[in-house]
Amino acid sequence: MANKEKLADQIRANAEMAKKGEKKRKGGKTGLPKSASSSAYVAPHRHCTICQCPISLNRDPPICGETKCGDEYESRERQRKRWNILLYVAPAIMIGAFALQLMMGA
Ligand SMILES: [Zn+2]
Repeated sequence: MANKEKLADQIRANAEMAKKGEKKRKGGKTGLPKSASSSAYVAPHRHCTICQCPISLNRDPPICGETKCGDEYESRERQRKRWNILLYVAPAIMIGAFALQLMMGA
């Protein structure tokens, strides 16, 4: 019978520990353990912008080593730059046209 009581004590202790752990998790931001010794520990990292596979934090450009991802990233960058240029050029043209109209009217 003493053995059974011991077991019950252990279960109670375990339940208490679980409760405490939950409280701790609620206080944290992500719930991920901060120490590298934990099995659930996730080291700081970022993801490849193309295939989302984990890569080093200070990788620049933020892509993995795959050639497919490199090509895709380059084409995306080109497109982004084109849009950036258009974003500045379009208003410039409109302002230019407006100024031209004013000059013509004067
Ligand atoms: Zn990738």
